[in-house]
Amino acid sequence: MKAATNIYDTIIIGGGPAGYTAGLYCARAGLNSLLFERFASGGQMTQTSQIDNYPGFDEGVDGFTLGFKMEQGAKRFGLKSLQEEVLSVDLVPTLKEITTDGGTYYAKSIIIATGADHKHLGIDKEKELVGRGVGYCAACDGMFYKNKTVAVVGGGNSAAADALLLSRLCEKVYLVHRRDSMRATKIYHEPLKNTSNIEFKYNSTVEEFLHEDTITGITLNNVLTGEKESIKCDGVFISIGRSPVTKLFTNQLDIDNNGYIIADESTRTSIPGVFAVGDVRTKKVRQIVTATADGAVAAHYVEEYIEQNK
Ligand code: FAD
Repeated sequence: MKAATNIYDTIIIGGGPAGYTAGLYCARAGLNSLLFERFASGGQMTQTSQIDNYPGFDEGVDGFTLGFKMEQGAKRFGLKSLQEEVLSVDLVPTLKEITTDGGTYYAKSIIIATGADHKHLGIDKEKELVGRGVGYCAACDGMFYKNKTVAVVGGGNSAAADALLLSRLCEKVYLVHRRDSMRATKIYHEPLKNTSNIEFKYNSTVEEFLHEDTITGITLNNVLTGEKESIKCDGVFISIGRSPVTKLFTNQLDIDNNGYIIADESTRTSIPGVFAVGDVRTKKVRQIVTATADGAVAAHYVEEYIEQNK
């Protein structure tokens, strides 16, 4: 039964910067708006303790604080925000149906803001060892490895930032990368080189996790020589990139080869009344500032869509 109380002008899926900005603009425009977030407000921002390139914070800001402030700011104008996971969607009908672990809801329009999630190495026992030495968020879990030895896997900005963060907490950090140099931006190169407790393991991939109940080490494979090397460590942080969270939508929306929802700067998708904002959509620059910009743009087109489809 479609109880009238469960029908919204717009439902936003995802409580990162894109979702909360869409929520702020929609609520401020007087739309009856509901947002679902399965974890904590802030999305990927919660994984970093220092954001320096979101304007308005002269000394930078930590991701938790920024996420919390975005949520509170949107709620001030009447956005309803529930901690529920969206499990399925029916986007095609005029009245769209959303099922969460808390119930079923209906909306005239949907804003998808599900962002991106970490990639997995895809080697044996990876899933079982999460929380027992295998992690994906140094800012969240680094403290558990104080004065211990860890390995960071990856060669981009996230891996570089994770290695530097962990070097301040841990006795030793191995940085494992499959190529012969980091592809992180230059700003990281000097600090990495000058940090005495970071040891580079270039041309190497992780072949195997060594463990008892928790991680005790990893076996590396040298991609040039095929030589194997086992190193002892208490934790492994996997920082090899992100992929869009679009599994719920793949059968209904146009998605590109990399899994991103196809939407241009208007945020409109292949289904009328469905909009995609932030990291989840096709775009060149995936940052907080571009995610918030999308949220504002989507609210404009949601308003227009609802007006034209009264
Ligand atoms: P996300 O932040 O990914 O949020 C999506 C949200 O949707 C998540 O909270 C997720 O739980 C939720 N969700 C997904 N599926 C469901 C579902 N089925 N039901 C309910 N909720 C769901 N950018 C910068 O500009 N500056 C930085 O300094 C910076 N540092 C970063 C550091 C790290 C470690 C990382 C990982 C990213 C960093 N970024 C930074 C990138 C930035 O965080 C992202 O570009 C931005 O968060 C994208 O916002 P979003 O709202 O599109 O998605």
